[in-house]
Amino acid sequence: MTVYNFCAGPAMLPPAVMEKAQAEFINWQGLGVSVMEISHRSKPFLELANECEASLRRLMNISDEFEVLFMHGGGRGHFAAVPLNLHLDDAPGVYVENGIWSIGATKEGAKFTTVESLDIRTDTDGQFDILPVDKWQLPEKASFIHYCPNETIDGIEIFDVPKHPTAPIVADMSSMILSREINVDDFDLIYAGAQKNIGPSGLSIAIVRKSLLEREGLPKPAILDYAIEAKQNSMYNTPPTYAWYLAAEVFKYLESIGGVPAMEKHNREKAALLYDYIDSSEFYFNKVTADCRSLMNVPFWLKDDALNEKFLTEAEQNGLMALEGHRFVGGMRASIYNAMPKEGIEALISFMKRFAQENS
Ligand SMILES: *Cc1c(COP(=O)(O)O)cnc(C)c1O
Repeated sequence: MTVYNFCAGPAMLPPAVMEKAQAEFINWQGLGVSVMEISHRSKPFLELANECEASLRRLMNISDEFEVLFMHGGGRGHFAAVPLNLHLDDAPGVYVENGIWSIGATKEGAKFTTVESLDIRTDTDGQFDILPVDKWQLPEKASFIHYCPNETIDGIEIFDVPKHPTAPIVADMSSMILSREINVDDFDLIYAGAQKNIGPSGLSIAIVRKSLLEREGLPKPAILDYAIEAKQNSMYNTPPTYAWYLAAEVFKYLESIGGVPAMEKHNREKAALLYDYIDSSEFYFNKVTADCRSLMNVPFWLKDDALNEKFLTEAEQNGLMALEGHRFVGGMRASIYNAMPKEGIEALISFMKRFAQENS
């Protein structure tokens, strides 16, 4: 039985990458040892690191105005790193909130700097909706504007990018990086934990505008200091080398299948299939307004909550893994990141149809 893994993260990786990694697991590049057993400062690893960065730069069209950093600490590490690096004495960090992750970022930020939050949710009657970007009332004075383009738990995605006359725009792209085309120049700092669209957990990525590295910010641990990481080519201390290697393989694979435009087309088709089925069904529903529905995380609910457990058990028996919604929102959630093939969506929909028929 083919198993499709809908986990929100760590998430499935492209099978072609996993097979390549397996084949060279204990003998990488004919060295007779694993990539995880060699020094991060050895020539073969440095080549890997350089090629990995070059590949990501090609995929996202990242200009020389930006540093690309490979770091530790996941998405939440950057929740702390952002205020520590970007703090200004005379302006608050502004946090736009549209779900659980962006609220988490505010809470972490408040430990280090003055925060001002802007709740853009406009939910009514259990329907999730948000204010469009051009209606956000961003304060004039801000040390940075932080927002989350894809709320992984709530299934809400923001497709437009906010603008501010002076403050840098910071985006937590943990659950949507590389899923669709973006213009990196619209941002000043992009960060992401790796375990959704890039590779395994343990690695995180920051794409930082070089001019921002001159900010002094606050006293901070060196491993969260963007300027130090930039100066040390992300090797201030031992990086998560195996995760870095897998990220490089994922990037190579993405380039081989046509890069982000091809991926976006695939992702839009996958999401449309699933949302269309949910909308057409009397048995399931989705609470997110159509123009802010996530392409990556599709939450859905059974009209009869009492059937949740049965749904999950039978889904597992049919090779459909990890569909339980986050405990904060309940129901189900299908995370359909880059690596999820269309066949996985089709298998999910046929199971959902069958389950609805049998339980109506
Ligand atoms: C998963 C996720 C995080 C947290 O990542 P960790 O690596 O667990 O710290 C942060 N933000 C968003 C939007 C996420 O989806």
